[in-house]
Amino acid sequence: MLWLFDIDGTLISSGEAGTRSLNMAFHTLFGVKDAFRGIKMAGKTDIQIMKEGLVAHGIPPTQDNLDAMVQMYLRYLQSEIENPWRRLMPGVREFLEHLTEKGHPTGLLTGNLQDGARIKLSPFGLNPYFPTGAFGSDHEDRDALLPIALRRFARLLNHSDGDLTPQRCIVVGDTPRDVRCAKVHGAWSLGVCTGPYDRESLLRAGADLVVEDLSEMEVVLEFVEEISADVRGRICNTG
Ligand SMILES: [Mg+2]
Repeated sequence: MLWLFDIDGTLISSGEAGTRSLNMAFHTLFGVKDAFRGIKMAGKTDIQIMKEGLVAHGIPPTQDNLDAMVQMYLRYLQSEIENPWRRLMPGVREFLEHLTEKGHPTGLLTGNLQDGARIKLSPFGLNPYFPTGAFGSDHEDRDALLPIALRRFARLLNHSDGDLTPQRCIVVGDTPRDVRCAKVHGAWSLGVCTGPYDRESLLRAGADLVVEDLSEMEVVLEFVEEISADVRGRICNTG
């Protein structure tokens, strides 16, 4: 199984470094304070959020304006991630260690820009667990990210095209958007309640399994054992 992880609310909390950096960038560039207040961000891609901010304040979301926002945001994020509120979610390191030991590939599937993702994970020392993935800088629409991650892993692992299917892939995330971006492609979805959504919301969105956090490793591994057998069975049945 290929495991793809969301970042904010799933692996870590950045201590609101992302939101602060967006607000600071917007203020520096366009002179508006607290520009992203009232804009819901969970599960959205960075570009999607930046566009919503620009439009909300009557600024055209042109490529130039977005490029300027991206550059300024990343600059602020570099320093804002150094804050006392950031934290690793329960069980994350142990979970990643276990998958690595068992030889399962692990990657990122996140709305963060690639550079932003790496900045957020760096203080926790998590970057080495994720050789590649798909990012908000690859596509504005989260639903388009899974095939990008699969292509990159197929190349990385020297699989031939079509060998690494969504059915052999688990997307781990904390919002209904994480669930959706897996299910639209037929991948498995594991929900965690370490973000703004509870178990019911994630199940309603279609998650195959929901745990409080990744310290419930035994529950998750048991489930994966079952679905792996199921996937193998189906592949045998269809010849
Ligand atoms: Mg998230």
